[in-house]
Amino acid sequence: MVNVQSGAQKESAKLDFDAIIIGAGFSGMYMLHSLRDKLALKVTVFEAGNNVGGTWYWNRYPGARCDSDSYIYCYTFDNHLLQEWNWSERYPEQDEILRYLEHCAERFHLKRDIQFAKRVVEVTFDEATDLWMVRTDKGDAVRANYVITAVGSLSATNVPPFKGLGSFRGKSYHTAQWPHDGVDFTTKRVAVIGTGATAVQAIPEIAQQAKHLTVFQRTPNFCVPARNGRVDPGVAKARKSDYDGVRERIKKSFFGFELNFIPKSVLDTTPEEREQEFDRMWDAGGFALWLANYQDLFFSKEANDIIADYLKCKIRSTVHDPVVAEKLIPKTYPYGTKRQPLDTNYFETFNKKNVLLVDASTDGPIEEITPNGIRAGGKEYPVDIIVIATGFDAMTGPLNNLGIKGRGGRELAQDWRDGPQTYLGLAVAGFPNLFTITGPQSPSVLSNMPVSIEQHVEWITDCIAYMRRNKRTTIEATAQAQDAWVAHVAEVANGTLMTGTDSWYMGANIAGKPRRFLPYLCPEGVGGYRKKCAEIAEKGYEGFVFANVA
Ligand code: NAP
Repeated sequence: MVNVQSGAQKESAKLDFDAIIIGAGFSGMYMLHSLRDKLALKVTVFEAGNNVGGTWYWNRYPGARCDSDSYIYCYTFDNHLLQEWNWSERYPEQDEILRYLEHCAERFHLKRDIQFAKRVVEVTFDEATDLWMVRTDKGDAVRANYVITAVGSLSATNVPPFKGLGSFRGKSYHTAQWPHDGVDFTTKRVAVIGTGATAVQAIPEIAQQAKHLTVFQRTPNFCVPARNGRVDPGVAKARKSDYDGVRERIKKSFFGFELNFIPKSVLDTTPEEREQEFDRMWDAGGFALWLANYQDLFFSKEANDIIADYLKCKIRSTVHDPVVAEKLIPKTYPYGTKRQPLDTNYFETFNKKNVLLVDASTDGPIEEITPNGIRAGGKEYPVDIIVIATGFDAMTGPLNNLGIKGRGGRELAQDWRDGPQTYLGLAVAGFPNLFTITGPQSPSVLSNMPVSIEQHVEWITDCIAYMRRNKRTTIEATAQAQDAWVAHVAEVANGTLMTGTDSWYMGANIAGKPRRFLPYLCPEGVGGYRKKCAEIAEKGYEGFVFANVA
């Protein structure tokens, strides 16, 4: 049943664009192509950076590369593009991914509709006209029917308010605001704060250059080898000839990869049998141990402990100094409940003579930044450069920062002060014609991002096409559908081990942020979530209400 309200007589106002997209990374670029070239809408994109690329424009720290296999970390909507682009490595470096996105921008003539170096500061819904007004820091004020946020899940940087940060006489850089001409570490004493996926990539690279590196660790991580390498031309050719198959498999998969759980409990295996499986996954590298392990990994602490012990042994056998090894071993949370970092010589780096680990729980936490370095546990560590690898205000941060105001002037950031409230992670009650690509409470960061991005972009495109065909002026999630979705996302998460861990998935990395599981772990995987979204559309957009042209 389609829930349609007859439209009240609306004031007319000048419409500048049919749709405004915020952000020109993977999602904004495809959204632009889709709305402009498939639906012939008048579209503009506001992008804070000076070029396309999003995450891959900003994150230029040493060692920055993709953690998904390149042959699936790309657009799959265009067969020609799939055939013509050749990835050099299993996990390409930041500059190669940026070149790919530049190539896509050229190929689909995207830049003519992107306004660079403009940060959106306010997005207001006008109930009198049913239009959105979008303002930027450069003074733009433009109206459109639809606003689509394509701001990424990990784009609002988190710089913790370290006491004394402003007093530091050396240079400091957050990894996601890295200078475009690089940083020279040679002859320098460097500190890295953080040991998440970013730092795990950066630390081995910095250690090779720097005179001395001090790593400040708050919580250790279970890292597994990436096993990067050149792409074998024969393998690349075989994949290119089977891209239809690859596309179908990743769309229907659990996490958007060609990986599937072993349909068995690890508790039902012999030590020899599981050791063999773990070795196979360890040797394969990448996310196999995390996302293609025994099916009870995320649900049973007893099962989880078995795989965690395997990884702890790997750390002990790699790190020569047993005291340092113990500091590097996670002991306070189950394996896989924080995002899996992939490494190349991460643990080996702590065997180098020029590398020192300062662990918050055994050596003392960071107390302050001083003019000469960092004080932790009562001791000052003098350094010339501080690399701040402290991550992001994940998922909600990028949206809260846009100054979005919906019906009656209600502010999204206020509505979300106790955690995000969405329907499908795609829409928000009280905010008509606003779509959030890979928003909170969608699979997003728990999947291979391009797979989830393409699904959302295509769903939004179909929805807008439907509205225009049927003369609907607005679409809006109902409060009931939203409440049910929020409850469902929490219920599923509470059935896993994920909610007990202090992670950015839970918002626990940001002081004062409500503790909520931010993405959606669909019990049927991204394939199931895709199906659910499609069924909702087929039922005339169940859980949404439309207004019709008056
Ligand atoms: P992160 O995972 O949030 O790690 C931040 C690190 O900084 C953690 O070790 C954290 O410790 C520490 N930290 C935060 N605040 C601190 C404070 N006040 N004092 C001391 N230490 C503090 O951030 P990230 O490494 O940038 O990674 C974020 C996400 O980006 C990843 O999980 C991943 O999804 C994505 N990413 C992807 C790739 C890729 O695909 N190529 C690469 C890098 C990152 P705690 O653990 O105790 O909070």
